[in-house]
Amino acid sequence: MVNSLFGAAGTSIFEAMSRLSAETGSINLGQGFPEALEPQELIEAAVAALREGPHQYPPMMGIPALRKAVADNTQRFFGEAIDWEREVLVTSGATEALADAFFGLLDSGDEAIVLEPVYDAYNMLIRRAGGVPVPVRLEPPHWDLTAEKLEAAITPRTRIIVLNTPMNPIGKIFDADELAALRDVVLKHGLTIVSDEVYEHLVFDGARHNSPFFLPELRARTVRIGSAGKTFSVTGWKVGYVTADARLLQPIARAHQFITFTTPPALQAAVAVGLNLPDSYFDGLKTGLAVRRDRLVAGLQRAGFAVDPVQATYFAVADRTAFAPDEDDLEFSRRLTLEAGVTPVPISSFYGKRDVTSHVRFCFAKRTDTLEEAVRRLSAWRDRQRWKVAS
Ligand code: PMP
Ligand code: GLN
Repeated sequence: MVNSLFGAAGTSIFEAMSRLSAETGSINLGQGFPEALEPQELIEAAVAALREGPHQYPPMMGIPALRKAVADNTQRFFGEAIDWEREVLVTSGATEALADAFFGLLDSGDEAIVLEPVYDAYNMLIRRAGGVPVPVRLEPPHWDLTAEKLEAAITPRTRIIVLNTPMNPIGKIFDADELAALRDVVLKHGLTIVSDEVYEHLVFDGARHNSPFFLPELRARTVRIGSAGKTFSVTGWKVGYVTADARLLQPIARAHQFITFTTPPALQAAVAVGLNLPDSYFDGLKTGLAVRRDRLVAGLQRAGFAVDPVQATYFAVADRTAFAPDEDDLEFSRRLTLEAGVTPVPISSFYGKRDVTSHVRFCFAKRTDTLEEAVRRLSAWRDRQRWKVAS
């Protein structure tokens, strides 16, 4: 006998597309991971910490240096004061933080509203926690969130709303009006927010990251999740952090206690160094990624994709319906891999019903020569399509 949920689960789209890319030698712009962007100071700090130790279980809540650094970084960039001793928990990646939050907050039958397009881990973890994910759809071209949409999904069993801002895959920052709508609904129904903010530092063109955690009425109702994987381009490290009011954090820390209990101490020490890096690192990350975004977006447009503006994250979603309106986006992603040698991920994988198939997602957190080659291949592919049609 196996668990009915995980026993029946398929391979994640990220793994599946990365595998196809490796098998075919394509440029992998599918799964979201950066190339050659990690700050050297962080690597050196990890090496030093590994040499010096300690190598045994660190405190369950995380090493003090990292918890302080999470609090200081939040104060420095977002102006929000956090009590590092009572309001910060270190986890093994944001994924563990999400699991801890759902396991710690939900009871059997409780409903959790998720916004589609939704990151794949949410629904599975909510369901394994006994909860019921209730989708609220954001749809192209505007991807707007309104109080009406949220209200329509509320039932007496609703307990939490899961937010992801900036949002994977669409690169959206929820604006002040959308956060105000969220606030009104949350307060009216006495809900809790789980806010996945792993892309908090990847915002472009002077935009500001905002969080329900920074709204006074929502601070004690919001579980805020971050990840060193994104902020320092080390996705394999799996160091995440949760900030929340002490009362809200307590059951989440209990779940953490029985899931991983701790996270490698040397990596925690290095991430503390990273979070304390000067503003110039964080500014450089933004401007470096914005340059990459511009190169990829221009290249995609030249190749015939319609690309929405990208405010944040390291993903560009491109409307591919101009090429083959009737083709499924998964089929299209596979075909692009084989024919063009560039791999995206289909946006339908982020919808429960998989019926929004208009867009595919490309990751631009890559070396600029990788992006140039991807763009060259896409243009050449586009020319071959034209030639095929003409002949
Ligand atoms: N949430 C979102 C929206 C993500 O895109 C990712 C990363 N891939 C995660 C969570 C997981 O982060 P981590 O690798 O720190 O577990
Ligand atoms: N978050 C990454 C993405 O959206 C992938 C993480 C994973 O492979 N599970 O591409």
